[in-house]
Amino acid sequence: MKRLTFYRSNGIKEGHWSPSKKQELVDRLAGYEDTGLTPPEIMELKERDTAKAPVDIDEEFDMYVCPSCDMAIGTIGDKKNHHFCLNCGQRIRLEE
Ligand SMILES: [Zn+2]
Repeated sequence: MKRLTFYRSNGIKEGHWSPSKKQELVDRLAGYEDTGLTPPEIMELKERDTAKAPVDIDEEFDMYVCPSCDMAIGTIGDKKNHHFCLNCGQRIRLEE
């Protein structure tokens, strides 16, 4: 998605928006407001939905854990079956 806004650089505004571009900005903001979520909440969901590799913790016990919450989520031989952590919802990167 193309970014429409820019942060000020040394206090100087870098963007210039025509009236039609300003309407595009308002429409984009409305889309975010329609989610009912704050930017930190959206970032949290984005992070949770980004696949992370599970962590092998113990070959002896044949277990691996969620990289986000450290809860055991399966056995090592079982890795291909878990797409998400059942505890926190973290997307898990499956082995090929
Ligand atoms: Zn988890």
